[in-house]
Amino acid sequence: RAKHAGGNRCELADPEADARAITRHGLTTALPVALERGEFFIEYQPLVHLGDGSVRGAEALVRWLHPQHGVIGPDRFIPLAEHTGLIVPLGRWVLEESVRQARTWQARHADAGPLRVNVNLSPCQLTHPGLVSDTVEILERTGLAPGALCLEVTESALIGADDDLLKPLRHLAEMGVDIALDDFGTGYSNLANLRRLPVSVLKLDRAFTQGMQHYPVDPVDLKIVEGIVSLAHSLDLAVTVEGVETGAQADQLRELGCDTAQGWYYARPGPPDRLHELALADVL
Ligand code: C2E
Ligand code: MG
Ligand code: MG
Ligand code: MG
Repeated sequence: RAKHAGGNRCELADPEADARAITRHGLTTALPVALERGEFFIEYQPLVHLGDGSVRGAEALVRWLHPQHGVIGPDRFIPLAEHTGLIVPLGRWVLEESVRQARTWQARHADAGPLRVNVNLSPCQLTHPGLVSDTVEILERTGLAPGALCLEVTESALIGADDDLLKPLRHLAEMGVDIALDDFGTGYSNLANLRRLPVSVLKLDRAFTQGMQHYPVDPVDLKIVEGIVSLAHSLDLAVTVEGVETGAQADQLRELGCDTAQGWYYARPGPPDRLHELALADVL
């Protein structure tokens, strides 16, 4: 009892920790209401072809416009939504909204190649039985070609994945939906495991790009990226790099054979119309 009380007192002695705890609890309970009230919105960050600088599509990144706290980033509320299960309806909303948006870009921008959209999936969505049927239904209802959708799954979500977990992803991949392995290289990358997974894109984590910020770049770092790219290509996987912040990084990554890039050097995540303008600008 005494111990318990002591623990409590200790928490109260750290007002900042207390405020964080309250906020976390407050945010968690506010999440379902926020979804009902339409407080979530999506920003899109261009995916740029490194060879010719053209915009090929965008990654959808969800944000929460909280009535008191302003804009809250996904790193703060996605874990809470995963914990409470709200990620399933929220993720479905993000998917539908992004797919609808991609369809709108394509209609408005018919002559440039069809713009594509990347949507992040949580591990909880992977195990949810409605994933395939929801996705099929959304694609049919909006008329977006499956090949214009890429679902991003983190490497850690697929660590030790058994066939049951991979089945829905295989099904989607067979329909023509691209599956990307997000944040690749941060976890316990098991390169041999790659061939088992129904993925067609590797997204190299920002950590690799960050390693190329200071010159001269460590030759060992270069060799590692070169090796990953060549392995990916030999397995027929395309390579996208995250977190490109400078032109020098873009040049380096192009030389290393990466296919697509994403990062502040090209554009920060922004509203859907901004993506449309960037795509019209031809090359970034
Ligand atoms: P992610 O999928 O790896 O997305 C890339 C993150 O890097 C985004 O952060 C993006 O804004 C940021 N970024 C892009 N370019 C640069 C750059 O040049 N430099 C730096 N320093 N950062 C850059 P954001 O938007 O805060 O999203 C964070 C994470 O939240 C995402 O990481 C993704 O895992 C998750 N997330 C976002 N939207 C969704 C969603 O709809 N569903 C789920 N399940 N997760 C989402
Ligand atoms: Mg992602
Ligand atoms: Mg990523
Ligand atoms: Mg990342």
